[in-house]
Amino acid sequence: MTPFVADPVYLNGQFLPLAEAGISPLDRGFLYGDGVYEVIPVYSRQPFRIEEHLRRLEATLAGIRLANPLSLGDWKAVVEKLIAAAPWEDQSIYLQVTRGADDKRDHAFPPASVTPTSLAFASPLVTTPADVRARGVAAITVADQRWARCDLKVISLLANVLARQQAVEEGCAEALLIRDSFLKEGAASNIFVVKDGVVLAPPKTQQMLPGITYDVILELAEQHGQALVVREISEGELRAADEVWMTSSTKEILAITTLDGALVGTGQPGPVGERMWQWYQDFKNTVMRKG
Ligand code: PMP
Repeated sequence: MTPFVADPVYLNGQFLPLAEAGISPLDRGFLYGDGVYEVIPVYSRQPFRIEEHLRRLEATLAGIRLANPLSLGDWKAVVEKLIAAAPWEDQSIYLQVTRGADDKRDHAFPPASVTPTSLAFASPLVTTPADVRARGVAAITVADQRWARCDLKVISLLANVLARQQAVEEGCAEALLIRDSFLKEGAASNIFVVKDGVVLAPPKTQQMLPGITYDVILELAEQHGQALVVREISEGELRAADEVWMTSSTKEILAITTLDGALVGTGQPGPVGERMWQWYQDFKNTVMRKG
């Protein structure tokens, strides 16, 4: 076991130590990035929005024309078993399904006799330290060089990897992806903007991953009477924003306070984001950490 992945892991119907979990070099996940994934946060050993994560997995599998190797109930049982066996209270569960390993390399789908490869494992949940959250983080903008189906949570993430690496090399936490002069999302997060007290959220199109955290934020805004408009956000509006936040299952809601070296608003996390963060914590604690 590494400090970052619990034993056992789940691989193709078996629970076994990570060190014994082997995958063929001909696996199409390895050869082509031909597969899908999910990341589910776990608080106090309870998976957060597991139904929604498993539904998104199902939608992505349908999008790449791969039958789900496990039923919803079977996935839940796998996740529960991993959570119970892992040593941490708060975790991150990773699920991956690839189109399996044929006996040769061929772009077209393998014969039906080739079964998908299913992998799942638990890691400790890595949260943002309080001082980083209080200051906010820096981000850059980059051209969105991804393919045309960014709504699918596929493992082919090379453009995201390069964008995030560029951010890291420039001392930043995230790269915001701009396509045709519009903000789409981050390399591994959704992005919200605040202007004059109104939250703006890019719409769910094929150019953005439909985030589970994104949905929670839309629900919380509605519940608390926070003005929120879903519409395309231009690069100009992004740069003139009072607040910018990144959201994801592991980052939750994190203020971006510097963009391409310029301050966002006052350069401090703003009041709307702070309120949303508190609503998110209250929601999470009510739903997840019931004494
Ligand atoms: N967009 C991208 C490209 C992502 O990779 C992620 C999460 N990893 C998100 C958005 C946020 O999705 P979620 O809130 O479901 O974690």
